[in-house]
Amino acid sequence: MSAKGIFNQCIVAGEFIDSEDGATNSVCNPFDASIIATVPKLGEQQIHQAIESAHSAQQSWRNTTPQARRAILRKWHDLLLEAKEQIADLIVTEQGKPRAETLGEVAYSAAYIDLYADEAIRLNGETIPAAFPNADVTIEYEPVGVVGIITPWNFPIAMFLRKVAPALAAGCTCIVKPDENTPLSALLAVKLGLEAGIPPGVVNVVTGDGPMIGKILCESNKVNKISFTGSVEVGKILARQSADTLKRVTLELGGDAPFIVFDDANLDAALDGLMVAKFRNMGQTCVCANRVLVQKSVLDSFTSKLTDAVKSMKRGSGFDEGVSIGPMIHEGALNKSIGVCERAVEQGATLVTGGKKDDAHSTIMEPTILSNVKPDMEVAQQELFAPIVTLIPFETEEEALEIANDTKFGLASYFYSESAKRIFRVKNALQYGMVGVNTGVVSSALAPFGGIKESGYGREGSRHGILEYCNMKYTNINHNG
Ligand code: ADP
Repeated sequence: MSAKGIFNQCIVAGEFIDSEDGATNSVCNPFDASIIATVPKLGEQQIHQAIESAHSAQQSWRNTTPQARRAILRKWHDLLLEAKEQIADLIVTEQGKPRAETLGEVAYSAAYIDLYADEAIRLNGETIPAAFPNADVTIEYEPVGVVGIITPWNFPIAMFLRKVAPALAAGCTCIVKPDENTPLSALLAVKLGLEAGIPPGVVNVVTGDGPMIGKILCESNKVNKISFTGSVEVGKILARQSADTLKRVTLELGGDAPFIVFDDANLDAALDGLMVAKFRNMGQTCVCANRVLVQKSVLDSFTSKLTDAVKSMKRGSGFDEGVSIGPMIHEGALNKSIGVCERAVEQGATLVTGGKKDDAHSTIMEPTILSNVKPDMEVAQQELFAPIVTLIPFETEEEALEIANDTKFGLASYFYSESAKRIFRVKNALQYGMVGVNTGVVSSALAPFGGIKESGYGREGSRHGILEYCNMKYTNINHNG
């Protein structure tokens, strides 16, 4: 594989291309800020060409048999897993998370291809009783057409494949814009996809200016759907820009996950769950525990266990053995997170540990615990996206639910309790798209990931995920005379 072909060029109509004027963006390693690649900064005309390419490929791709699409997706899945070590290395290099997590991300990503390869052949419609004499009524699922896909940096390949795999399985073609911080693993994935037999134009990868590319995709009459994972702010821009063409939009936006530890919880299990739900990817995921609510009677013992666990986390390069805290994605994220901690302390929170840059590595934030946090403090009112635990004490179940639901977000939520009655009461009362009960994990290719309120709309994963890329067609067939 030539490094030039994979990492320094975009992929449009099956060709590796540079920008028309030679402009590039640098991609940096977040651990040491070294430049690892440059990718093209495509011009407007080139984005239109990418749309044209997806549009031209649409008819023949939707006319392939589902078995043919399954075969190509399966081959792609196998090639990705064969290259898993290389992809895992690449994600550590461009994104910074510990290598054990990047290997997990590759497996998680491949699981979406595995699932949707099979869903391609199970996209069954329905026949339903006709309301008319001498008639048959059928329902079929057809591909929506050309899809514009915009992905974030925190799971560079998983967020990409979670959208591209169901789109392709349904018979759609796409134009994908990966995040400017982490475009390399998506480029490598598509290179492997072409080798697996994805025809030219079916998946196009464009890099460059996010707002410019997003606007063109949203406003184009040749793009039938937008699927986005990222911030609420950008999600709203895309929804607005898609309004004139009334495009279908899937939005996976921010979260503000409560993680509630009741006094009847297994505290050791709750601690294990929290370490995963909080510190995965240095806290930079939309399903990370954002507010940790702990019932007062178990607060001291839980805080003490948590402090031991957090202090023992090894920090360093994602390539180093045993590391669980790597660098933040960039300096801006690091400085913002430290500022949030400083203001929390000024407002009355107690810094138990962390709150500053790691002494040995200036790109790493020490894993942090803030206790005595009140729900109305700034630190408890925002999506942290950082390795910061905010401990919010509560007295009663009612109070915990009130705090947990008092947010504009509604993505993931978690709670720990050993009481069967409480488990039903609390899961019914939580106003979230996903609830983890006695677990810190909710993401799986087989489950419908997604949120409510300002966390967005639409689902990814499971059969629901492929339906996001399908239009329902109802036909009434009159066979009288
Ligand atoms: P974050 O704040 O986590 O970086 P963003 O929502 O800003 O999240 O970015 C997620 C993705 O959205 C990236 O691929 C980024 O380039 C893209 N993006 C940012 N601004 C816009 C925009 N105005 N229109 C379309 N895409 C955008």
